[in-house]
Amino acid sequence: MEVSAPVEFLTPLVVPNKLLLGPGPSNFPDRVREALSHPVLGHLHPETLKIMDDLKEGFKYLFQTTNPLTLCISASGHAGMETGLVNLLEKDDVILIAHSGIWGERAADMSKRIGGDVRLIKKPLGEQLSLLEARKHFELHKPKVFFITHGESSTGMLQNLDGFGELCHEYNCIFMVDAVITLGCVPFYADKWKIDVAYSGSQKVLNAPPGITPITFNSRAIDKITSRKTLVQSFNFDMHLLGEYWNCFPNKKRIYHHTVSPTLLYGLRESLAMFIEQGGLEASWKKHAMISQNLYKKLEANGLSLFIRNANERAPSITSVNVPANIDGTKVSSYIMQNYKVEISGGLGPTVGKIFRIGLMGTNARDEFVDKAINLLIEAIEAVKSQKL
Ligand code: PMP
Repeated sequence: MEVSAPVEFLTPLVVPNKLLLGPGPSNFPDRVREALSHPVLGHLHPETLKIMDDLKEGFKYLFQTTNPLTLCISASGHAGMETGLVNLLEKDDVILIAHSGIWGERAADMSKRIGGDVRLIKKPLGEQLSLLEARKHFELHKPKVFFITHGESSTGMLQNLDGFGELCHEYNCIFMVDAVITLGCVPFYADKWKIDVAYSGSQKVLNAPPGITPITFNSRAIDKITSRKTLVQSFNFDMHLLGEYWNCFPNKKRIYHHTVSPTLLYGLRESLAMFIEQGGLEASWKKHAMISQNLYKKLEANGLSLFIRNANERAPSITSVNVPANIDGTKVSSYIMQNYKVEISGGLGPTVGKIFRIGLMGTNARDEFVDKAINLLIEAIEAVKSQKL
């Protein structure tokens, strides 16, 4: 052989058990883990197609939409973002992007690659965009697409979406929302809020495996694709082709587009089944609100301060805590990981070194993990202080 077989493969696979209290992925419940070990089926076998149909209905419920074009992309959350943008944008189309953390930046990067004319509304980290401010930018830029992140995971900020749908209609603009960390843990009404395209993540509130991403397009968004002058640049993420594969169009036959991972479908279906059995959206919204309130109260009682000052502007799934002065936050996170195999993350992008991020999502949203996260943070901060780690 010109290249010999790597000897690493002669030692067994070792995967430690870690408690994931960071921004995601979150831990799988046993049922999801067991579902992942079902035998693989063909991607066009009737049993697989039935699971795909179930997931479409499940996500219509989660997104609160009747959109027939609701399906899952075979890739992680970034692919949801890219699918929206690559279908909606043509060369030189103006896209207006609300930017207050990392996700607006990512959307801008992708839009530029597609040839979009990117206009940013830059906000200080952790600050919401107001409708009034947005209106000024709509008037100035006359965008064809408006992108905003509902829960900015790099800061923990929850963006109020009231009125943005109406604003987009007024300016004949498509309204696209990143709901990766918010779907399932706070109210989200795609139809009522006039959201044209929304996507979420499987590995956050749903405790399902990463690598499969729910997305929904309404009729305005479909019209926008249908009226394109140019082909969607991506074959993988072309929503017409994906819609045909997922059998979303009543007048079109199902086609083979790609091989979806039946294994990921099993895991995602099981997580939705658990979500619905446990009381569905209302129960989950209530649980995440209660657990996060408890976390805020106890953090403050222990002398730690929250990065987002106003509690109504915090996403309950990911809470950002200010790193105390003169402490190296990365040492705190690694102390917790090394000693307890628990993930509490630092910041991301512009918040690196400024905050810790605690994620309490789905099955991990529990009072016992509130206490655990706080105790570990305090112990680790003290250790870093005293040992000058
Ligand atoms: N948007 C938000 C708000 C996120 O938090 C994430 C993941 N952290 C993504 C998009 C991208 O998702 P993924 O890492 O699954 O590609």
